[in-house]
Amino acid sequence: MAEERKNVIDPFGTSVISDYSHLFEEFGIQSISTVINKITRPGRYLRRGIDFAHRDFDKWLKKPEAAMSGIKPSGEFHLGSKMTAEELIYFQKEFGAKVYYCIADIEAFADNGISLEDGREFAVGNVADLMALGLDMDNAYIYRQSEELRVLRLAYLFGKRVTLNTLKGLYGPRELGLYNSALIQSGDILSPELDGLKNVLVPIGADQDPHIRLTRDLSQKFKEEYGFLEPACIIHKFFRALNGDSKMSKRDPSTYLLLSDSESVARKKVMSAMTGGRATWGEQQKLGGEADKCVIYELCKFHFTDDDKRLKEIHERCVGGKIPCGSCKKDVFDNEILPAMRSHQEKRAQSLEKARKIVDGKTT
Ligand code: SF4
Repeated sequence: MAEERKNVIDPFGTSVISDYSHLFEEFGIQSISTVINKITRPGRYLRRGIDFAHRDFDKWLKKPEAAMSGIKPSGEFHLGSKMTAEELIYFQKEFGAKVYYCIADIEAFADNGISLEDGREFAVGNVADLMALGLDMDNAYIYRQSEELRVLRLAYLFGKRVTLNTLKGLYGPRELGLYNSALIQSGDILSPELDGLKNVLVPIGADQDPHIRLTRDLSQKFKEEYGFLEPACIIHKFFRALNGDSKMSKRDPSTYLLLSDSESVARKKVMSAMTGGRATWGEQQKLGGEADKCVIYELCKFHFTDDDKRLKEIHERCVGGKIPCGSCKKDVFDNEILPAMRSHQEKRAQSLEKARKIVDGKTT
């Protein structure tokens, strides 16, 4: 008998979500369809249903003050980091929100054993990626957790009103360091409110929802002292690994693209990615490919094809059985992925010097 596939949510480990519809009840979140018609120019993730759920996004839209996220500095930007960064940039450009971006170096130490010094070096590259993607640094605040005293102070105070059982319920049995870093993340998320920006939106992957639940709860427990409002969030689906797994795993670098990959490495990864092609070309001509199961199509939909008309063409030629997978992959790599990666890498190289100053706290 086939084993029933369940959703596994672990913000510190590997999550598998086989059915997003279950999450609405499980998390108490709302469908994005309740808000989408209030947005004049929805970004790529919104208009394509990749952002599928939210908490209080409708309230945030009435007064969009801040958008907050961060990165664990443990490696180069992959496509998951790119998603969150692009969401922040969209909310900054479209709604004028101030972006807060945390370099979660304490979490990188607690979760991955990466020293603060090594985390700082990764962070320089990560911030350069953020700048290359288009973040306006004049309306942004970037900081390292280990240096942000007000966040650390909040986390310490939060410990007074949260029990071990609550943390166990949200995260399972963990070492103290990870519980600590969860409290620090709550401090990160609420820190824009210390600057008077009370309406904070956090774009997250579905696996990060426990952090939002904890933070919303803490915001109410400390409302009297700090006047916190509950942060809003918008939740996106996972981009799958190139081999078709539900979530990218950093354990196997051949299964995910890095924005820093060389042309030859990226091409090899794309040409070996899982497709929705049929067993033979004859069958594919007859039945059409399964674009909606194909990682190559997903690369276009999530990341590299902003033009909806072009995306539709790629979908139609696939399901109409008009192109073999090998030719489709080559076309997508040469015309969608490679130009975007080259342009990104050039901009990133130009941003490195400024990124180092930002990480070292010498500007912004
Ligand atoms: Fe994927 Fe392209 Fe093959 Fe369709 S034709 S299954 S989109 S690689």
